[in-house]
Amino acid sequence: MDNLCNINVIKDVLKRHNFTFSKALGQNFLVNPTVCPKIAEMGNAAKGFGIIEIGTGIGVLTNELAKRADKVVAVEIDSRLIPVLEETLAEHSNVKIINDDIMKVDLHKLIEEEFNGLEVAVCANLPYYITSPVIMRLMEERLPIKSITVMVQKEAGQRLCAKMGTREMGAVTVAINYFSQPKLLFNVSRGSFMPPPNVDSCVVRFDIKETTPLGVTDEKFFFQTVRGAFSQRRKTLVNSVSASLSIDKSKVSEAVKRCGLEESVRPEKLSMEQLIKFSEELKTVCGF
Ligand code: SAM
Repeated sequence: MDNLCNINVIKDVLKRHNFTFSKALGQNFLVNPTVCPKIAEMGNAAKGFGIIEIGTGIGVLTNELAKRADKVVAVEIDSRLIPVLEETLAEHSNVKIINDDIMKVDLHKLIEEEFNGLEVAVCANLPYYITSPVIMRLMEERLPIKSITVMVQKEAGQRLCAKMGTREMGAVTVAINYFSQPKLLFNVSRGSFMPPPNVDSCVVRFDIKETTPLGVTDEKFFFQTVRGAFSQRRKTLVNSVSASLSIDKSKVSEAVKRCGLEESVRPEKLSMEQLIKFSEELKTVCGF
């Protein structure tokens, strides 16, 4: 169906299926007809691509993805929406709906079984309560995907796309820049949804890097160090890492010194290369 942004059509479909919105599942459905075609076009929905969509709602974005890509596999947690989608997406033979929690789906297996030979991209108007866990999972699992294009709360989008070395950055900024090239694409006002949320949104795209930065010998330890470094805002790198990872302060200071950095340096002042060097030196000093 092509008019899934029309409020009267949405009301009619939802009424016939006795559907009521769940706030807990982040159900704010898009009603602005200009947004989904833009997400689809900027999110690599094209010939030769298979798309994973997270959270279909009544299928407004799914419809635009299915028109452009070779195949769409959409994961929707709310079983009440499945009969709705059977109606709204009936004309698309290239859509498969999986009724499950995206955090529980084996995505490596899904890609292998569903997208034989196709390039893969992720597109979603994400349920806000799991924005960061979903994005981090998609990246950390090193899925063979080209990009992740998602609508998120505006403030979350600004944080996710923060530049390294700025006050806004945090551990998630480091992880995102390690795995991808982030880009803020466009803003979407709260009035574009039904029901309207309390905040505005934006669409961001993460282009997944083919190779991650060099020099990390133990990724798990690197990200533990990064999380530790940014766990206590406004503290120095030494104090923050020492407190959060329970490592003797003198050892952390030694690692900082070996990197040629000031004892008083703050984590947000470090580049990706310096963070990698610091975590490697810390590993050596601690004998891990
Ligand atoms: N794509 C639709 C749109 O743009 O109108 C719906 C977006 S709505 C913000 C988020 C959707 O994600 C809802 O349909 C909700 O039921 C679904 N959802 C919430 N948590 C989920 C999860 N853990 N796994 C899969 N889908 C989820």
